[in-house]
Amino acid sequence: MRDYLKFFIDGEWVDPSGNATADLVNPATEEVSGRIALGSAEDVDKAVQAARRAFADYSRTSREERLALLRAIKVQYDKRQSDLAVAITEEMGAPASLAAGFHTFLGTGHLDTAIAVLEKFAFEKKEGDTLIVKEPIGVCGLITPWNWPINQVTVKVFPALAAGCAIVLKPPQLAAYSAQILAEILEAAGVPNGVFNMVQGKGSVIGSALSTHPDVDMISFTGSESVGVQISKDAAATVKRVCLELGGKSPFIVLDDEDMAANVTGATTGMMINSGQTCSAGSRLLVPAARLDEARAVAATAANAVTVGNPTGNAAMGPVVSREQFDTVQAYIEKGIEEGAELVAGGVGRPDGLDKGFFVRPTIFAATNDKVVAREEIFGPVLVMIGYADLDEAIEIANDTDFGLAGYVNGKDLETCRSVAKQIRAGAIYVNGGFDFHAPFGGYKRSGNGREWGEHGFAEYLETKAIIGHG
Ligand code: NAP
Ligand code: MG
Repeated sequence: MRDYLKFFIDGEWVDPSGNATADLVNPATEEVSGRIALGSAEDVDKAVQAARRAFADYSRTSREERLALLRAIKVQYDKRQSDLAVAITEEMGAPASLAAGFHTFLGTGHLDTAIAVLEKFAFEKKEGDTLIVKEPIGVCGLITPWNWPINQVTVKVFPALAAGCAIVLKPPQLAAYSAQILAEILEAAGVPNGVFNMVQGKGSVIGSALSTHPDVDMISFTGSESVGVQISKDAAATVKRVCLELGGKSPFIVLDDEDMAANVTGATTGMMINSGQTCSAGSRLLVPAARLDEARAVAATAANAVTVGNPTGNAAMGPVVSREQFDTVQAYIEKGIEEGAELVAGGVGRPDGLDKGFFVRPTIFAATNDKVVAREEIFGPVLVMIGYADLDEAIEIANDTDFGLAGYVNGKDLETCRSVAKQIRAGAIYVNGGFDFHAPFGGYKRSGNGREWGEHGFAEYLETKAIIGHG
């Protein structure tokens, strides 16, 4: 049982102002796995004041001092990587191999990227007689979701530290354990007092106290559209910068060539990673209509091959994060059946042999793009296959969505892939499985307005000053 009942404020583990706590449930066993303290606006205010004081000195540290700090964090992160992985499995049910692999590896990648960006970044530039200076924006409130918990914390915390900002982190209740360990890592690395602070608790309390706080300069939020809208409203009165990374319903276009079956298999397996709880998941699989039968059969085989079960064992897929998420995903599967989408694999209920835990069957529908299951983000292991007559129609379907977070194009002819990629209205298009820590990541349309990863993510934490007549 974990008992995480203190907050990290001004370089110390301190008692919350009140004594409210919440039990956390292991999604694979449905048993209580530990407790966290639930903070209040008073705790947030203490953390913000500590960050404000720390910002005065930290914002004036040199590039070399901050690089030394990031390298010290790397030493500590490496030491605690397996602790992080165990925590991630326990809190949100990621299979052990995924938690020890991609989940924690993403944190390492964001740290290495923050170091590489800081090593080279030009903070000053002359344009005529004007000197343009990039300076850290100030105190940043970072609000994150549970689905790739360490990725989402580190993709904010490391660039913010690299830029010279002070931080108050509000992690998700559902993934509080890995955030606690990350705070311990930062403490062990010797982050100066007040530069990094963490307050746990409810989003409606802690998150909104940050969004409305007059001494917070910026909010970086990753999560749902509705909360993103609420944060924007809350932050408007104090004119904060608000960076939003929201949801998606991203198209995965498979070209009509001899690799189609392999690409459909890859897209299906990819959809089921992390139980489909990935904002950038390719949840609409666009295949040539003339070969839809073949594609359906291949996808069904791939989905049925995904082993679901205990995340501490060898299963490829664990549970979804919570009872609430389980119910939401089940309701979408029922909705798909009810609205006449064709069930290709999976369906309602738990996979055979599992009578406890928030396990969902890897599910595939074949449908048209107007169905609810093709339009709304389900955030579970549910893939919707849609046939296209030609590439123009594929692009039209791909763009017929409220979202614009990601897109995928897989095919043999790279020129065609590139041309399709350029026509998709989304922030990150992956061609044939490309991956790049330095590529900007973020949404068009209702998927958000910020960019994370790489130099673009780093730049979100900077203000621009012009010194005119500098000479
Ligand atoms: P969520 O419900 O929006 O919660 C995200 C965070 O916001 C949590 O820490 C939550 O706290 C907090 N929060 C809740 N109400 C708040 C309020 N009024 N003010 C400030 N903060 C508040 O999202 P989720 O269910 O955790 O995550 C799933 C969503 O995240 C999906 O839509 C997914 O697509 C999106 N997502 C986007 C990206 C991206 O990069 N674009 C990446 C991953 C996930 P508590 O829950 O602890 O109360
Ligand atoms: Mg939520």
